[in-house]
Amino acid sequence: MDKKTRICIIGGGPAGLSAGMYLEQKGYENYTILERSDRVGGKCWSPHYNGRRYEMGAIMGVPSYYAVKDVEDFCGITHDGPKLNRNYKNRDGKVIEPFEPKKNILKIPRLLKMKKQIKQLGEILETKYKGYDVNGHRGVSEGRYDGYAVTPGREKVEGVNENLKDLAMPFKDFCAKNGVELTQDVWIGPYTSFGYGYFDEIPAAYVLKYLDFQTCMNFVKVNLWTWKDGTQYIWEQLDAHLKNPARLNSEISHIERVNGKVYVTVNGNTEEYDKLIVTAPLYCADGNNGATNGFVDYADARDDEKEYFSKIDYERYTVQAVLTKPEDHPEISYYVFDNMVKERLGHLMVYYRRWKDQIDQVITTYALRTHKDMKEVPYEECNKMVLEDLKTMKNPASEVINKWSVYYFPHIYSEDYRNGWYEKVEAMQGKYDTYYAGEIMSFGDMDETAEYSRELVDRFF
Ligand SMILES: Cc1cc2nc3c(=O)[nH]c(=O)nc-3n(C[C@H](O)[C@H](O)[C@H](O)COP(=O)(O)OP(=O)(O)OC[C@H]3O[C@@H](n4cnc5c(N)ncnc54)[C@H](O)[C@@H]3O)c2cc1C
Repeated sequence: MDKKTRICIIGGGPAGLSAGMYLEQKGYENYTILERSDRVGGKCWSPHYNGRRYEMGAIMGVPSYYAVKDVEDFCGITHDGPKLNRNYKNRDGKVIEPFEPKKNILKIPRLLKMKKQIKQLGEILETKYKGYDVNGHRGVSEGRYDGYAVTPGREKVEGVNENLKDLAMPFKDFCAKNGVELTQDVWIGPYTSFGYGYFDEIPAAYVLKYLDFQTCMNFVKVNLWTWKDGTQYIWEQLDAHLKNPARLNSEISHIERVNGKVYVTVNGNTEEYDKLIVTAPLYCADGNNGATNGFVDYADARDDEKEYFSKIDYERYTVQAVLTKPEDHPEISYYVFDNMVKERLGHLMVYYRRWKDQIDQVITTYALRTHKDMKEVPYEECNKMVLEDLKTMKNPASEVINKWSVYYFPHIYSEDYRNGWYEKVEAMQGKYDTYYAGEIMSFGDMDETAEYSRELVDRFF
């Protein structure tokens, strides 16, 4: 492609900004990033409180966040945040240590079995499911893998492996098929409580591409990265280092793609581009937080775009930032496994104490309001339930200082996955001078989205 190609990138979150970085590194400088809000970072949102930053969105990374590391190197920054530490409570607020045999004498046989199954899962992922963890979903439903390996060298790998078709099934069924049901006890912590849905509804592909074996073990060992000034800082820094920083407050009202050109009407003016990269939501069935619409709503979406994108669902992940009285401040972050089941939809699943050395800092709470087979828990109701749960946990909130329910983890379900949704959408890349990136194309975390942008630039530009 001509290096002078005019490229419009929609969205100034991790996917859009890193697309800018990788394009620039490849010699494309004629790119424009349009960001609708008044800040960059998207779901990496780190507001200030009392001289420090807390996290309303993304919190952490793992040592295999290679694309995030690319960004850090590009900007000369590093992961310099507070160490994460956590413990567990049951739904009645009692501290438990579910993985400690001495504290669970009666559960020892189950814990031993679980340990064995974890080892077993690690082995089959390397052998039977070779290629499961490459970034993106291209080819999986056809029993192929094609992408970058999650290794320091991030080698391009491709191959045929019929077993990969199993990744379309819900993770719960995938575990049952392979006789490793108890591994869910470990995978659920960094999965469901982090807002990515329930194992009986979400295809194993999403679970295992995000929580590949090594990443899950890093969560178990709390071998995690955080950033002192929040994850938003990573993307603010990237924005500041790009030749073309994102244009904030860009309201796109229309996009027309004709005769090999892309016309974007932004804040009332129509601009001409050659190519479009969409990292913002493609489809939003009910923008119930009022802030989200989909690409199909403002672009001249074609029939195939409408057809496929209308299959996308997303999670309603709900975060509240609260203050507590000093005597009620939690001494550590807590996971509440009892609340990570769909029967407890809308309840507090995890709460995060970020700054260990100060008790006047914000605590953030996390709950899910949707399951594909259940009625959505209304936003305000969920917020009330979480505040009640905090009381039960004996860490009552004295004040709520921030909250949001965000368009989170767009995904498709097993049937569409099995029927080749990703193959069809990947085949549409570039068809209307348009490329699709961001969470739906890989997974809803900072690194998978940035890595996908890297691959997209590599493949098509
Ligand atoms: C509570 C929470 C906790 C999380 N925890 C973690 C974590 O610990 N680790 C991790 O790696 N990830 C975590 N994530 C996920 C991570 O933040 C996202 O996966 C990542 O930000 C996705 O990047 P993105 O660029 O694809 O999308 P987004 O971050 O959503 O960015 C999209 C951008 O597009 C903009 N936009 C939308 N529509 C338009 C439009 N029409 N025109 C122009 N711009 C538009 C938005 O304003 C936004 O800035 C968390 C997210 C949340 C909400």
